[in-house]
Amino acid sequence: MADPGVQASIHKNLHTTLPRIYNYYSATRFKKVNLIDRLYPDSKAVEISHWAIPGGVGAWQEWTFQEVVAQNFSPVTVGDSSFGPTWTTHWFKVHFTVPDEWAGSEVRFRWGSNSEAAVWSSDGRILQGLSTGDEGSLRTDYTITRNYVAGSSPFTYYIEMAANKLLGASPGDLIDPPDPNLFFKLTRAEVVRLDSQVYKLTRDLEVIYQLADELIPDQRGYQAMYTANQMVNSIIKGDDSGASDLADQYFAKGNGGRAHTLATIGNCHIDSAWLWPFSETKRKVARSFSSQLKIMEDYPEHIFVASQAQQWAWCKQYYPELFQRIKTKVTEGKFIPVGGTWVEMDGNIPSGESFVRQFLHGQKFYQQELGFTCKEFWLPDTFGYSAQIPALMKHVGLERFLTQKLSWNTVNKFPNHSFVWEGIDGTTVLAHFPPGDSYSMNVKVSEALHSVKNLEDKGRASTSAFLFGYGDGGGGPTQDMLERVRRLADTDGCPRLKIMTPDQFFGRLEADKHNLCRWVGELYLERHNGTYTTQADMKRLCRLAEFKLRDAEFLLSQAITILGPDGAKDLLQQSQEALEEAWKKVMLNQFHDVIPGSGIEIIYPEAERLYQEAIVAALTVWNNAKDVVFGSDGEKTEVAVNTLQWPRTEVVKLTAAQHQEGGADQRVKEGQQYALVEVPPMGSAPAKPVTPPNTVTVEEVDGVFVVDNGVVRAEVNAWGQVISLVVAGDDRDVFRRADGTQLGGNQLVLYDDEPIYWDAWDVMDYHLETPTVLNVEGSGYSVTPVTVVESGPLLVKLRWGVTISASSTFTQDIELSATSPYLTCASSVTWGEDRKFLKVLFDANIHARRASFDVQFGHLERATHMNTSWDTARYEVCGHKWADISEPDWGVAVLNDSKYGWMARGHQLTLSLLRSPKAPDDTADMKDHAFKYAIMPHTGTLQEAEVVRRAYEFNNPLSLLQVPIDKSEWSAVSMNGSGAVLHTIKPAEDGSGDLVLRLYECNAAKTTVTLTLSWDVSSVKVCDGLEVAGEDLPFTQADGVASVRLSLAPFTIHALRISLS
Ligand SMILES: [Zn+2]
Repeated sequence: MADPGVQASIHKNLHTTLPRIYNYYSATRFKKVNLIDRLYPDSKAVEISHWAIPGGVGAWQEWTFQEVVAQNFSPVTVGDSSFGPTWTTHWFKVHFTVPDEWAGSEVRFRWGSNSEAAVWSSDGRILQGLSTGDEGSLRTDYTITRNYVAGSSPFTYYIEMAANKLLGASPGDLIDPPDPNLFFKLTRAEVVRLDSQVYKLTRDLEVIYQLADELIPDQRGYQAMYTANQMVNSIIKGDDSGASDLADQYFAKGNGGRAHTLATIGNCHIDSAWLWPFSETKRKVARSFSSQLKIMEDYPEHIFVASQAQQWAWCKQYYPELFQRIKTKVTEGKFIPVGGTWVEMDGNIPSGESFVRQFLHGQKFYQQELGFTCKEFWLPDTFGYSAQIPALMKHVGLERFLTQKLSWNTVNKFPNHSFVWEGIDGTTVLAHFPPGDSYSMNVKVSEALHSVKNLEDKGRASTSAFLFGYGDGGGGPTQDMLERVRRLADTDGCPRLKIMTPDQFFGRLEADKHNLCRWVGELYLERHNGTYTTQADMKRLCRLAEFKLRDAEFLLSQAITILGPDGAKDLLQQSQEALEEAWKKVMLNQFHDVIPGSGIEIIYPEAERLYQEAIVAALTVWNNAKDVVFGSDGEKTEVAVNTLQWPRTEVVKLTAAQHQEGGADQRVKEGQQYALVEVPPMGSAPAKPVTPPNTVTVEEVDGVFVVDNGVVRAEVNAWGQVISLVVAGDDRDVFRRADGTQLGGNQLVLYDDEPIYWDAWDVMDYHLETPTVLNVEGSGYSVTPVTVVESGPLLVKLRWGVTISASSTFTQDIELSATSPYLTCASSVTWGEDRKFLKVLFDANIHARRASFDVQFGHLERATHMNTSWDTARYEVCGHKWADISEPDWGVAVLNDSKYGWMARGHQLTLSLLRSPKAPDDTADMKDHAFKYAIMPHTGTLQEAEVVRRAYEFNNPLSLLQVPIDKSEWSAVSMNGSGAVLHTIKPAEDGSGDLVLRLYECNAAKTTVTLTLSWDVSSVKVCDGLEVAGEDLPFTQADGVASVRLSLAPFTIHALRISLS
C-alpha cells in the first residue's frame, strides 16, 4: 500500500514502471486493455467495389478521374488479396452511412492495403495520402469530420491504390531489386468513431514516457515517470480527465532561458525517382502535399516546406485543383517552396552551367507560378557538395545552404553544424546541417535531445533546424507529430521546439554568424563515392547533353545577332521553348538518385530517353540556327565550326568527296579522308586541309610501338601500356619505368568491389587491396596485342584488347594525331561483371603533394597523401573533364569525355571506368560501353600547358557542316588575355533578344581579358545567374565590333547581359 496522498509510484523501479507506461499506449502490447483499444470505440464496415487501371508503370497518367469513376466497379471485401502486380493502379469506391449516435464525435475512415494510396472526394479532389503496412511511416486514417452532425450521411469516397509500398517494391531488403509481381491484400476499410479524449491521453502518455525514458536519472525525468504512472492509475480508475490534468500540469513547466531552440520545420523529402519511377513520384507529391493541406485545417501553426520545382510543376500539371489550393497556402506563408532548384540534384556531377540552370528554372517557376523566390539552397540528401557551390549560389543570389548528408561520413565527424562555407573563389555562404542528422524526424524526445547533444556549435549559435516529417518516399508530417510539437514547444528538460519558416531560421542564424567557424573547400561525403561511376550512361549522356545544349545556344545567339532581336522573334520563341524543355529533361536526370546511378532498373531507360530527346532538341535548335547563320541557298562547301573562344587547328575526318587538294593526305576507309583544318574562335572556316608542321609516325622497335608527332612521343608496349610518354624536346618521362617491371601509363586494373551494404552507392576503402592489372605480361588474361590500324601521316591508331571474362571484353584504340598534345584512348567495352570495378591507372613519375581536379567552373586541389583521416577518406573523388598531377614545371593530365571518379595517391592517378553493382538494379551497366580518355604530358604548369582548353576541345570536337560557300567564314567572339573561359552564350530567358554570356576564371589567378564581339551592341551590363541586369559596363563599338575589358579574380563566375542594337 502506498502512503496516503503520495502520488509517485510505490517502487522506484524503472524496470517495471517505465514498461508499464509504455505498454499502456503501445499498439502492440496490452492491446485489449490499454488506451489504443479505446481509441476507436465504434466502427462500421463500408461497401467497397473495385476497378483496376489497365497497364502497369505510369498507366494512371492516361486516365482522368471522371473516366475512372465511370468504369464498372465490382464488389470486393476486406481480406481480398488480388491487387497487383507491382506498379499497377487500383481504384476502390467506398460508400457508407455514419450512425446518428456518433453525432458530436470525430469520425474517420481507416484503410489498410500494405501499400500507398490516396483518398479522393466523389467530385474528383484528392484529399489525402494513405500509407499503410508494416514498414513504418504510417498514415492510416482520414478524418472525415471532427464533429459529426447527425443525418449528414451517406458518404462516398474513392481510394486510389498504388501497387507499391512507400519505399518501392522490394520483396525483402530495402535495396533489393523490386519484385515485379507483388500483390497486395486489403486488410482494412472501415468508418470509425474516435474518442478525442483518449487520443489526447495517448499523445500525452507517449511524450511523457519519452521524457522519462530519456531524462532519468534527472529530476525532470523522474517527474515524468511518476506523472505518467499516476496517469495510468487514474485512467484505470476511469478518471480520464484527471489523467489529462496531470499531463497538462507536467507540460506547463516551461524551459529556462538557456534552452536551445530547434527551428521546427515540417518537410517531406521526396526522391524524384529512386526505388520507384518518375511516374510514381508524381503521385507521391500529390499524396504528400494533399496530406499537409489536410493537417493545416486543424493545426493552423503548421508550416510545410517543399523543394524541387519539378515536383511543384508535376502537381500543377497532374493535379491542377490541388495546386490551386496549395497556392492559397503559399500566399498565407504556410506552404513554402525551398531550395530554388529544379530538382535536388547531385552535388558533384552536374556542370557549372547545369547548376546555374537548376536555379534559373527553379526560381523562374516559383516566381511565375507562386510569386515566390527561395532564399536558401536546400539539398539535404545529396552525396557530397562541390567546392564551387558557394560561388554558384552567390551567382544566383543565394547565401544560405542546408544539408545533413555529411552525417553519413564513414570516417570523420564533420566539426560543425552551423558554419561559414568558403568555396574555391573565396565566396562564403552560411551553411547549416540540422544536428539531428536527419531530414525525416518524427518529433521524438530522443531526436530533440540528440539534436542539442550532437550540436558541434554549442554556444556559437542559439538555434538549429529540426526537420520533421516522413521522407524519401514522401509523406511528411502527421497529426501525431504536430501533437508532439505542441507538447514540446516549451517543456522543461527538452529543447524548445519552435515552428519556423526556413527564412526565420536562417535569419536567426545570420545573427550568430560572427561566432561561426569557417570551412574551406568541398563538403566531401565519405560515402557513396561509387556513384561517380555507377550507371555510366547517365554520366556520359549528361556530359554530351550539356555540350550539345551549349553549342545550340551559342549558334542560336549568333543567329539572333544576324536577324536582330525583332527579326529573330519567331526563331527565338520556338527555340527557347525547345531548349527549356530540353534543359528540364537534363535537370530532372540530375536528381540525386538518377545521375548517381542509385535507382532501380526501370528508371534508366526513361532517363536515357529524356537525355536523347534533349540532345535531339539541341540538334534541332542548332540546325535551325545554322540555316540563319550560314544561309541555305547556293553552292555548298564543308566547313568546320568551333564553338570555343580560341582558334583551333585539328585533324578531322572529311568526306572524301569534299576533300580538296592540299595538306597531308591520309585516306580513311569508306570514302573518308583525314585533314588538318584551321578554325577561328567561336566561328567557322572552310574545311580546307593545311599542311601540318609535323606528321605523326609510328615505328615498331623490339615489340614496342613508338608514336611521335613532334609534340609528344609515346611508347606503347604490346599489351597496350604506355610505357613512356614525353613532351617532344623534353627528356623527362611522365611515367615510371623501373627495371624488370612494366609500370607505366594506361594500366587497366580490375578490383573486387563488394561494399558493405549500399551496393550502387558505395565503394569501400578495402577494394584498393584487390588490384589485378589486366594488360601486363603474365597477368593470366588473354590480351590481343597491339596492331597498327592507322599509320599516319595525320593520325596513328593502335588497337589492342583484353578478354576480362566470359562476359566482358575490352578493346581500345590508342590514337595520336599530327597536332595533338595528348594520346587519346578510345575504349569499347562489353561489360558483364558481378561487383568488379574497372579503372585505368597512370603511374606517374611525378613528385607532387597535391593533384588538381576539374570541377564546376574551376578546379580543386586535393592531397595525394594520407596524412590525416580526412585525406585517407578521399580514396575515390569526383572530378570532371580532367585531372592533373604536376611538379612546378612539368606534369601529366588525364582528360576524359564521360567519367567522374578519380583517385590520386602518391604518384598514381586512376580514372574509374565501370562498376557492376547488383542493387537496387541488378542489370546496372551490364551492356556495351564506349568512352574516351586522353593522356597529356606537359611542360610548365597545368595553366601554362592550357590543360583546361585541351579538355574543352576533347569534349567538344569541331563540327563539320555542309553550308553555302559565301558565309562559310566568320568569328563571333574572341578573347585576348589568358585565364578566362567563356563557357556560355545564350539568349536571355525573358525572350527580349538580349544575350547572356557566362565566363569564369580558370587558372586560379587574377586576370584581365578583353572580349571582342562581332556584333552591334547597344549595352553591356553585369548580370547574375538569374539574368537580372546590374550595372552598365563600359565598352567600345566600331565597325560592328564591340570590345569589353574585364578583370576577373581567381575562379570567379561572371555573367554579362548584352543588348543588341
Ligand atoms: Zn533523397
